[in-house]
Amino acid sequence: MKGYKASDGPGVTRRAFLKNAGAGLVAAELAGASPAKGKPAPASAGVHFTPPGGLTQLSSNLYLLRDTCNVYVLKDGNRALLIDFGSGHVLNLLGQIGVSRVDAILHTHHHRDQCQGDSRAAAERIPIVVPEHERYLFEDAENFWRNRRIFELYYVKNDFFTMTQNVPVAGVLRDYDTYRWGPYELMIYPTPGHTLGSVSLVGAVDGKKVAFTGDLIHSPGKVVNLFELQYNYGSTDGVDYAVFSLTRLQEQGPELVCPSHGEPFSQPEPGITDLIHKLKGWYAAYAPESTLTVDNKPYAVTPHLVASYQTTSSSYALISDSGKALFVDYGSASGNFCSTYIAATSVHDRMGFVEHTLDALRAGYGLKSVDVAMPSHMHDDHLNGFPHLVRHHGTRVWCYENMVDVLQNPRGYNLGCILGEPIKIDRAFRNGDTFRWEEFEFQVFHSPGHTEYQMVLFSTIDGARVAFTGDAFFPRGDGTLRHNLIFRNWVENDSHVKSIRTILEHEPNIVAPGHGKPFLSNKADLEGLKARLEDQQKYFFDVIADRDCDFGLNPSWVRLYPYQLQAKAGSSAALELRVRNYRSNPMHLQAALVVPAGWKAAPEVLELTVSPKGDASGGFSVAIPENWDRAKPRVALAADIMADGQYLGQIAEGVADVQFSS
Ligand SMILES: [Zn+2]
Ligand SMILES: [Zn+2]
Ligand SMILES: [Zn+2]
Repeated sequence: MKGYKASDGPGVTRRAFLKNAGAGLVAAELAGASPAKGKPAPASAGVHFTPPGGLTQLSSNLYLLRDTCNVYVLKDGNRALLIDFGSGHVLNLLGQIGVSRVDAILHTHHHRDQCQGDSRAAAERIPIVVPEHERYLFEDAENFWRNRRIFELYYVKNDFFTMTQNVPVAGVLRDYDTYRWGPYELMIYPTPGHTLGSVSLVGAVDGKKVAFTGDLIHSPGKVVNLFELQYNYGSTDGVDYAVFSLTRLQEQGPELVCPSHGEPFSQPEPGITDLIHKLKGWYAAYAPESTLTVDNKPYAVTPHLVASYQTTSSSYALISDSGKALFVDYGSASGNFCSTYIAATSVHDRMGFVEHTLDALRAGYGLKSVDVAMPSHMHDDHLNGFPHLVRHHGTRVWCYENMVDVLQNPRGYNLGCILGEPIKIDRAFRNGDTFRWEEFEFQVFHSPGHTEYQMVLFSTIDGARVAFTGDAFFPRGDGTLRHNLIFRNWVENDSHVKSIRTILEHEPNIVAPGHGKPFLSNKADLEGLKARLEDQQKYFFDVIADRDCDFGLNPSWVRLYPYQLQAKAGSSAALELRVRNYRSNPMHLQAALVVPAGWKAAPEVLELTVSPKGDASGGFSVAIPENWDRAKPRVALAADIMADGQYLGQIAEGVADVQFSS
């Protein structure tokens, strides 16, 4: 349904819109009442009843219809913007208030009661605009239903309240952006809780600061239900989100709150405070051992180094005397904000993000700007906030050289924990590079193991030699160190050992790890870990059949790039086969692409010679037929491999996302 055009887009003139789509509205306007008797307005397929009441005027340009949800009408002359849509009955009434054209419907979230009339809006060519992270629950609702687990149910979130049929989406409400329409500017805030992708729209209407909050709050001190606030089995995760979102809403200081259920209420401050208080009480009563994200606080490790360790990954702010900061990592607001977001993210989206910690750094630690952000490694839990920093705080991103392409072209790779949004890199460093930022000196080294794409960063801060080690290792609590091993992250037999040797060599005083609090470095503990990592390396050789054991550690030694190809139907796209040869001899490799019936790949057989312990790549071109089936927008591809006369079969693969012109 990608080809949907907005009513004022190309191909649909205003005249045609009024003639074809808005005729019912014009008639209603002329009659000054509901559409003529005997000619019921076309209803949505999913709508069987009519709400009893009519429009209520809240202020000069703001109206409310109590439908399956509250439908708000924002008026600008004879045009209107609708916030949520319910059954769509509102279209029958707009003529009464002199509205002849609806420019768009903005949805606060994807629940059926908010949008069950949307197919009528689509038929009348009214653009439907939805929260960015719930887009797939509108335009791809049918796919959601095909894939939603019902047996063995532990993700108990009531996303079962999703539409039963696809709805065309004309645009998205992107978190922290502004939606401009006529004289109105609505700020879009992510307000997870009732649903994870919910947004609240805040802006001036008729001289008042109004917040359209969906189902974040029902009425002063009340939510519409508690079951929407549980995502994972037995948890209080959604309560944590709601408290966070209500706290942010309160900081906005709205003068009128317009909820999706319940009545609009003025001077909302005490009602929001009351709800936060009650939800905090419920949270503490039900899960006394848990902490709320909103209570996370950074602390100063040294005067210039501030750590946030309760965020999902630890985030470090090195704050110069000038007030500029260099961040090492900036991920999700808490573990809860990371893990549940991932579960609720579609395969084409990136996980959601809410801004956190910056206020506390400004208020308590003299932060004026986030000048630079550096990822310790390429994992989403460590850099989920980077695109937000770039977009809204003008932050530059610097990183270790081998992360550049992973971050700029995330579709290229199939590695653990890739953030599904490209991040533009402003500066890259090589192994051993030194650099200066403000009054601080740094040295960067490659630090593989946890992932090939990780650095260790050393700096002397307030007299202490600090090592930012990412996820190379973590304190166990009993003084010893632990590490982890994820084969999908590109691990070779000596990766971990290389990393610990580099860190030992530079004798840090303080280790700032990727998870948990910074700790004083103890050489004996580091040596203890080194011994275990050398032992680990012996196991690799012992247990893996191939004497070049890296073939048994790295599933991507032969791989397709990009892993997630994107191409238009009727076009050709370039695909690369990339190989690392772990043998001590040259490797002769033949590869043929396996594509869906009707697709063409060239050359038929690609021949490569890869030098010992070296890398090589070769190119394919893949042609996608013009008339490719729209019901198959994503397909799998594979590469059939013969290496040194041995037939290995289809050991490499990727996917192709086919794009269709309207
Ligand atoms: Zn709802
Ligand atoms: Zn991590
Ligand atoms: Zn990691």
